[in-house]
Amino acid sequence: MSKKNLYLGAAYYPEVYYFETIDEDIEYMKKARLNVMRMGEFAWSVFEPQEGQYNFKWLKKVVDKLYQNGIYSILCTPSNTPPIWLTKKHPEILRRDDNGSYAVHGGRGHGCPNSPVFNSYVQKIVSKMAQYFKDHEAVIGWQIDNEIYPWLQGCHCDFCMKEFYKHLKKKYKTIDNLNKQMALRIWSIEYSAFDQIEYPKIKDWGSHPAFTTEYIDFQMRSNANFISRQADILRENGIKVPIGTDMMTFVSQDHYITNQNLDVVMINHYHSKENFYECAFWMDYMSRLKDRPFWNTETATTANGANSVNPSLYPIGYNYINTLIPFAFRGEMNLYWLFRAHYAGPELMHSSVITSQGKPVHVFDETVQAAQTLEKCQQFLTEFELDKAEFAMSFSSNAYNIFEGQKVVAGFHYTENIIKNCYYPLLKDGIAPSVHNPNNSLDGIKVLYSPFLISIEEGDFAARLIEWVNQGGIWIAGPLTDIRNRYYAKYRNSVFGFIEDLTGIQNIYQIPSTCLNNTIEFEDGILSKTTIWNDVFLTKPEHKVIARYNSPSPSIDQKAAIVGCKVGKGEIVVMGAMPEQERLLALIKTYLKKADCAPKLKTSSNVLAIKRRNGDKIGYCVIELFYEKGWVELDGQYLDVETSTKLSGVIEIEPYSFRCLEKID
Ligand SMILES: [Zn+2]
Repeated sequence: MSKKNLYLGAAYYPEVYYFETIDEDIEYMKKARLNVMRMGEFAWSVFEPQEGQYNFKWLKKVVDKLYQNGIYSILCTPSNTPPIWLTKKHPEILRRDDNGSYAVHGGRGHGCPNSPVFNSYVQKIVSKMAQYFKDHEAVIGWQIDNEIYPWLQGCHCDFCMKEFYKHLKKKYKTIDNLNKQMALRIWSIEYSAFDQIEYPKIKDWGSHPAFTTEYIDFQMRSNANFISRQADILRENGIKVPIGTDMMTFVSQDHYITNQNLDVVMINHYHSKENFYECAFWMDYMSRLKDRPFWNTETATTANGANSVNPSLYPIGYNYINTLIPFAFRGEMNLYWLFRAHYAGPELMHSSVITSQGKPVHVFDETVQAAQTLEKCQQFLTEFELDKAEFAMSFSSNAYNIFEGQKVVAGFHYTENIIKNCYYPLLKDGIAPSVHNPNNSLDGIKVLYSPFLISIEEGDFAARLIEWVNQGGIWIAGPLTDIRNRYYAKYRNSVFGFIEDLTGIQNIYQIPSTCLNNTIEFEDGILSKTTIWNDVFLTKPEHKVIARYNSPSPSIDQKAAIVGCKVGKGEIVVMGAMPEQERLLALIKTYLKKADCAPKLKTSSNVLAIKRRNGDKIGYCVIELFYEKGWVELDGQYLDVETSTKLSGVIEIEPYSFRCLEKID
C-alpha cells in the first residue's frame, strides 16, 4: 500500500466488545472505504491489567488483521485513563480541584500532569508500547493522551502547587516583585514567600485576575510538558512515524505551544449545521501551525452526545461535507469518533459509523461517497499546497486566558467574539482571513487584523510585529488590543504598551460602549453605532483620523475613534471602537487594496474558495458551508478534478458541495 494516501477512518475500541466483533467491523470498514483506525487511547486497564503485567498482543493481533485488509493503524498512549490498581495504590496521582477534592476514578483525564509517580508509570507503559510496535509497518502515527486542556483551570494538588511556585519564581524572580506587579497591597494580600500563595480559586470578593491567568497558563504548560515528555519517550524507544496529541477547539490549551515538540497537529471537533462555518476558522488556524498537513482526529458522522444526544441539525449531505472539509484546508486525515457505537457506558448515545448492533447508520452512504470523492481528488489534494495567507486575523490562547481572569466587560467571551463577531462577517463577505497564532511567523502576511488582542507581550510576538510593520505590514489593532502587560496588569505610563510609542496616538478615555450614547462618524459623514468598547484618542497632524466620536460628552465629542499612522514602511490603524459590520468591512477592504492583496475568487456568501498552489499551477477547494445553493465566478478555465469536466464563468454550487478545481489556462 502506498503511504502517500489521504486517510479516512475512525476511532476503534475492539477491547470494549471483548474482540467479538472484529470480523464484522472490518467488513463494514471496507464497505465504508476507510483506511485507518485509531486505537488504544483509553485501554490502559487492558494493556496493563496488573502492575508490571503488560499485554499488547491483543492490539498487535488487531493491527495485523486490519493491515491484512488494507487498513492502517494509529496507536495512542493511554495516559488519559490510569487504571484502578494505580489510582488505589497511589491516590495522590489524582487530579485535585480547587476545593481540594480529588477526581474520582471512573472519569477521564484524572491523572495529574505534574505528579512524579504518575509520570513514572506513564514512562513505563509508553516505552513498553513503543518498543513493542516500533517496527510495525501498519502503524502510521502515534497519538499521545486525549483532548488535554486545563479542565476547571487544571489540577490543584500539592505537586502542582510546588511547580506553580517554581513557575512564578522563574517569571517574577522575587516575591516583592510579584507583590508589586500584581498590586497585592490591595486588601493586604501581600505575601512574604512564594509558598504562602494559595489556589487561585474563587474567593469572597472575587479572585485575583493575574493569579487566575497565571494558573491557567501554568496548567497549560504543565499539560504541554506532559505531552512533550511522552513524545521524547516514544522517540527514544524507536518511534519514527509522526507523533501528535488530539486537541479540542478549546483555547485554554495553547495549540502552538503544545505542538512545539510534536510532528503533526491533531484537531477534534464536533459541529452541526448551526455552526459548521466555524470549521473553516479552526481548520485554517490548525493548518498554519506547522509546515505539515494536520490530522483531523475526531468528528461525528451525525449527532454528538454522551448519555444523551445533542438535539442539533445535521441535514442531508452534512456527513459528506463534514468528512471532506479537513482536506480542503490541506488536512491529511479525517477520523470519526467512533466506528462502532458503544453498547453501554458514558458515551453510548454518540453517533458512529455502525451501530452497537453492527448495522450501518443512516448516513453510511455519505461516508462512502466522501471516500470516493477523496480517492478521485487525492492527487490534487496532496500536490496542491495551501496558498500563503496575505490577510490574517490574530487569535490567541494567551488573550483567551487573560480574559478568563478579567472579563473587562461583563459577559465578554473572547473566542465567541472572535469567531462570531469578527471572523463570521469577513467570511460572509468573501474576505475570510487566515487565522494567525501570535507565535507563528508573519512571513507573507500583508494585513494583520488583531481585535481584542489584549496583550501583545506573548513570546517574541511584539518584537516581530514591530519589525514586520516597519518592513511594510499593515496592522489593524483593536479594540482592547495592547492594553495588558506580561503580568496581565495595565501599563502605567500609557494605556497602550506599544501603540502609543510607535504612533504617538494617545488613548485618553476608555469606556464601555454602553456608558454613553456615542456614535462614530466616518470621513464621508456616515454614522455608525459601536459595540463593546470606546477608546478616545488624542491625535497629531500627521495622523489620519478615519472616524470621530459624536458624543453627548464635550470631553469626547469630535475626538478620534479610529486612526491610521504610518510607521516605517508600514502602517498601524488603531480602532478605539468596533463599528457596525458594513463600515468595518469597508475599512478592512480599503487596507487590503492598499496592501495590494490578491483578490479572492468571487463567490456567493455561503461558499468558500480556498486557494491552492502547486508551483505555477493554481487551484481551489470550493466548499459550501451553510446548506444553501451558491455560486463561484471563475477567473478562467478550470477542470473539475472529480468529474474531469471543464468549467468557466459562473458555476452553481449545490448545498454542502466539495469541489476541487484546477486552473487550466
Ligand atoms: Zn496536580
